[in-house]
Amino acid sequence: MCAEIADTKSWIANRIKRDQISKYMEGDNDFINDEEIIGKLENNKRVDSKEIRDILDKSMAVETLSPDETAALLNVTDKNMLDEMASTASKIKKKVYDNRIVTFAPLYLANLCVNSCLYCGFRKENKDEKRRVLALDEVKKETEVLAGKIGHKRLIVVYGEHPVTDIDYMTSSIKQIYDVKVKTKNGYGSIRRANVNAAPLSIEDLKKLKEVGIGTFQVFQETYHHKTYQEVHPAGTIKSDYRWRLYCMHRSMEAGIDDVGIGALFGLYDWKFEVMGLLYHARELEEKFGIGPHTISFPRLEPASNSPITQDPKYKVRDDDFKKLVTVIRLAVPYTGMIITARESAQMRRETFSLGCTQTDASTRIGIGAYSDRYTEQEKERQQFLLGDTRSLDDVIREFAEMGYITSFCTAGYRCGRTGKCIMNLLKTGKEGQFCKLNAILTFREWLDDFGSKETKIAGEKIINKEIKEVKKLMPEFYTKLMEDYKRVENGERDIYF
Ligand code: SAM
Ligand code: SF4
Repeated sequence: MCAEIADTKSWIANRIKRDQISKYMEGDNDFINDEEIIGKLENNKRVDSKEIRDILDKSMAVETLSPDETAALLNVTDKNMLDEMASTASKIKKKVYDNRIVTFAPLYLANLCVNSCLYCGFRKENKDEKRRVLALDEVKKETEVLAGKIGHKRLIVVYGEHPVTDIDYMTSSIKQIYDVKVKTKNGYGSIRRANVNAAPLSIEDLKKLKEVGIGTFQVFQETYHHKTYQEVHPAGTIKSDYRWRLYCMHRSMEAGIDDVGIGALFGLYDWKFEVMGLLYHARELEEKFGIGPHTISFPRLEPASNSPITQDPKYKVRDDDFKKLVTVIRLAVPYTGMIITARESAQMRRETFSLGCTQTDASTRIGIGAYSDRYTEQEKERQQFLLGDTRSLDDVIREFAEMGYITSFCTAGYRCGRTGKCIMNLLKTGKEGQFCKLNAILTFREWLDDFGSKETKIAGEKIINKEIKEVKKLMPEFYTKLMEDYKRVENGERDIYF
């Protein structure tokens, strides 16, 4: 037991590689300057409507906004101007992503953690948490449900930070996920893109993740505000190192994983400051690597087991501010994917899709082993926090279809090398949309045939027919090939893409 504790201590002590932080820094400061951000928010309070409209034109041209421009948008309070911002955000979403929505499921593989984040049920001091690490055969069982019964093609695989679930566990569990192939009604189900949400890793470990073929690597900064960061991540823990986390995406790019996901946990500090932090992060990645974030996440703090700060947070984000922050992120970083999760209610998810969100989860369970175990939908001692929307993928997809959205299960991008700079350029010019439309039609057909309920099929087919007509009209050069592939899918062939 003592040896085990000593091993864990030495693992913690060796985790952070100082040279893999300092190599990206210019001088002593990191790229988040708290005073500068506060100054920008203060100095851009009285921007007239002509200037705001100029900023909106820039967003519409799919250009990343400057900090001053973003601060100006964050400060808008005039109702008419807020409506104009929302309508521009909606147009940008349509221009870059059309009416497509991507769905995924989170898969929590373990809840062991050496950190003490005050807002998280997994923190090591929480003695009520039922700790568990899924063995590989259990990972297989979870994947069989996700890919074979529900029909997910994309996962976000989530890990705590612990020596037991270190990089070797991560790579073997991801390989296991990719190995699962389950027979379905008309074909087979499998996971085609495993994204990862984990603690910051070294360049060497990130290269190992790259080798097993992950999609996006996601790490949220939680809060960009230095002082708050130190308050919620107790000293002495790995996570208390702000810069190890802040430069994680730099290491990811260097390791060759160029689809990166950034995020902030809204509710820890002032929401306007956090949006500015996300913008500075996106701009830093664009400047240093020519590639911005593939996705931005903006989870709101939810109640977690034995976590008093989650009960009534001082900086709790009200619903109307949440909608505004979604709008401003869409306007400030127009090309990025925006993820809204089942932490939010069904109503909030509905409203934010028109404002710019592009991805969401469904049929979500976040307890360890919760997809294949038969216990209640939510159990706070097994999960990190509580969810706001636990509807099934079938219900969510049907609702999307009724709202005019097509759910895309396309995972072609990273398998065809359309990642990083390549996808950014394609998104900015609107060309990615062409491949996406075609692949959305094929993968949605596949999903409806394998997993859709009768009602969802009816709603889904209406959308598919409309999309096919659009291809015929707007991209006639692809029409014949699309219809040939469509027939192949109907006949049971799977995983066909442009
Ligand atoms: N352990 C890894 C880390 O800390 O980066 C990743 C996994 S953590 C399980 C995933 C994310 O969940 C965190 O980055 C945090 O933003 C979010 N989270 C933690 N506690 C939360 C809460 N109470 N409500 C909502 N989101 C929370
Ligand atoms: Fe551990 Fe991540 Fe939870 Fe912090 S947020 S306690 S690092 S699982």
